[in-house]
Amino acid sequence: MIKKVVVRGGHNFQTAGASGIIDETTEDRKVKSSVIKYLKLGGCTVIDGTPGNCSENADLNFGTNTANNNHADLFLPIHFNKCYNSYNGKIGSEVWLNPNNSTSVAVGKRIMSKLVGLGFKDRGLKDGINGEHLHDIKASNMPSVLIEVCFVEATEDVALYKKIGFDVVGKAIAEGILDKKIGTSTNVTPASTETYTVRLSYNNKKSQLISTSDLYEAKDKANSHPSYSVYNSKGQNVYMLKGSPIPETYRIRLAWNDEKSQIGEIYTDYYQAKDFANLHVGYNVYDSKGKNLYTLAVVKPVVPNTDIIYRVVAGSFKDESGADEQIVKLAKLGIESFKTIK
Ligand SMILES: [Zn+2]
Repeated sequence: MIKKVVVRGGHNFQTAGASGIIDETTEDRKVKSSVIKYLKLGGCTVIDGTPGNCSENADLNFGTNTANNNHADLFLPIHFNKCYNSYNGKIGSEVWLNPNNSTSVAVGKRIMSKLVGLGFKDRGLKDGINGEHLHDIKASNMPSVLIEVCFVEATEDVALYKKIGFDVVGKAIAEGILDKKIGTSTNVTPASTETYTVRLSYNNKKSQLISTSDLYEAKDKANSHPSYSVYNSKGQNVYMLKGSPIPETYRIRLAWNDEKSQIGEIYTDYYQAKDFANLHVGYNVYDSKGKNLYTLAVVKPVVPNTDIIYRVVAGSFKDESGADEQIVKLAKLGIESFKTIK
């Protein structure tokens, strides 16, 4: 029975893997993290055997040493493959192992059938001992299964991978290893009832792309939408794609320091903010640093009390005499009007 697994993403960013439409090292780490998540949900002890930046030899030894030192039941390196400079169509998934090890073969077959179930082409189980002499298969003391999820240059492989997402791929691999269905984080761990939303800013509910209990799913969404962040239910920004431009936000207040006077939303669209301020005399549009970007021209009060403006039936005035004049004009037209103080 498989109870302890060492999982590693292939290669590292110093001695990087293959690159095509997608980048092997980048993607294998996503799948690796997902496999670890689901194996844990499935009740496994999991150790991450992925190294940081290092030479190729150090990289290879780090993985197998981690597996051997921890006496894992299974060593699982995850890779993406490449064969051509470019390829139009599908190539598929491969699983490399020691064909003489019955556990490896059983696990490998289950993983392959799961990947095929997702739509990847079956390239079969490959001999990593007699054929390719793969370090990961030879130097590990336990059953070892090396997965090549799909080919980074094959248009249909990549399209499928992107469509289903790394999290689904990782879940399928974990279910193949444990030979059982693994629930999502919501129905397995009661602790994970957090809800994550992907928005431009937390208060900008309209910008929301997704609401999910699955942080990986939320991060994946944010990764494909620059400027969007992942927020937890308390409104804390828990993730944003590195290098993503932080969107400017606009607030409507009577004065920047008067936070309580804030009305409307925290806008990411300046023109929306301006429109809203136009409907609320006396209010200004501020950027995130408190710079006043817009004030409706006629409404800035000259009286010390910023809350007071004088209104007549057909207009607003910044001073009382303007209101009085209007009342006289309207009276001449036979219209009775009055002042109100806001
Ligand atoms: Zn590789």
